[in-house]
Amino acid sequence: MQQIPKTMLAATLFGPGDLRTITKPVPQPGPGEVLIRVEACAICATDLLILDHRLPGQPPFDGTFTPGHEYSGTIVSLGKGVDEFRVGDRAAVEVHKGCGRCENCIRGLYTACLNYGNLTKGHRANGLTVDGGFAQYVVAHINTVYRLPDHISFAEATLITTAGTVLYGIDRLGGFLAGETVAVTGPGPIGLMAVQLAKALGARVLLTGTRESRLQVGREVGADVTINVNETNPVDEVRQLTGGKGADVVLECSGAANAAQEAVEMVKKGGKILLAGFFKDPVTVDLSRLISNNLVIYGARGEGGRNVGRALALMAQGRLQAKPLITHYFPLPEINRAIKTFAQRLEGAIKVIVEPQKGGKLEDGSQSGD
Ligand SMILES: [Zn+2]
Ligand SMILES: [Zn+2]
Repeated sequence: MQQIPKTMLAATLFGPGDLRTITKPVPQPGPGEVLIRVEACAICATDLLILDHRLPGQPPFDGTFTPGHEYSGTIVSLGKGVDEFRVGDRAAVEVHKGCGRCENCIRGLYTACLNYGNLTKGHRANGLTVDGGFAQYVVAHINTVYRLPDHISFAEATLITTAGTVLYGIDRLGGFLAGETVAVTGPGPIGLMAVQLAKALGARVLLTGTRESRLQVGREVGADVTINVNETNPVDEVRQLTGGKGADVVLECSGAANAAQEAVEMVKKGGKILLAGFFKDPVTVDLSRLISNNLVIYGARGEGGRNVGRALALMAQGRLQAKPLITHYFPLPEINRAIKTFAQRLEGAIKVIVEPQKGGKLEDGSQSGD
């Protein structure tokens, strides 16, 4: 095992959209925590919100906070009392560590912790309220760490966090999808994971979207039918493909303004809808349809219920593919280029990975070294 250096490269936020790669001290793991040498950290749509304006509980824009919540790496040191992991273990990480003392945490709803953002009460959200993985080293609480088998690469492991979010949503709505028809709306990283999870759980999957290249990936990873909403009305198409009934379950992963309304129109009577994509602005939905059609809409925050562990098991069994979703890699000093590539979907970008251990030039032109 390599020596742990005193300082490291980390991207920190100096203001809205002002992310800089700087040198800062390598953190020390406290009781119940481990220090992880970060090998890969994926950029997520939530990072764009974190960069733009502070989310609840997010530290100030003072050049100290490091975002990045979809990361993986190797455990290099253990905090006091940790015997659940060993130095050298490969690790995948989830975001939320509940306080463990509020009534929601006690009931297992730790992603709905009532002490969200309150560090003194023990709550932590990796890369959201405490430092994350756009750095060479990061501290994580063991509640959020999962041992990663050797045959899953670090880059692939970042998608386990994404998959865990959808799987938690599926868990919330009942999870028993064998033989059901599931409509997945939006073929982004979450939607493409939703397709695979629904297939792994025995569903027939209809995927809707606007970009043919992403729908193509959807077919590659298992969608039975893809529907290009620029060519056909997705509600009519889903109804037609289900003998007029509508989908048993709709997994809304697009966050598009009209998506919630389309979901209540394409789901069958008595059906269930999961909202897994954040909406930019408040949306209008005909809620009377919920009443007249016995519909239930679920929201699910983060990757609760230790669903990251379940998603990891599915990936380890070859039922979840991450590789077709990973389109770009950048070293840490080029994180702003990485974010631009992701945000503007340049060169067909789907999932963009930052690799903090790889070299690259700092933005002032100096060499970062490895
Ligand atoms: Zn995310
Ligand atoms: Zn709590």
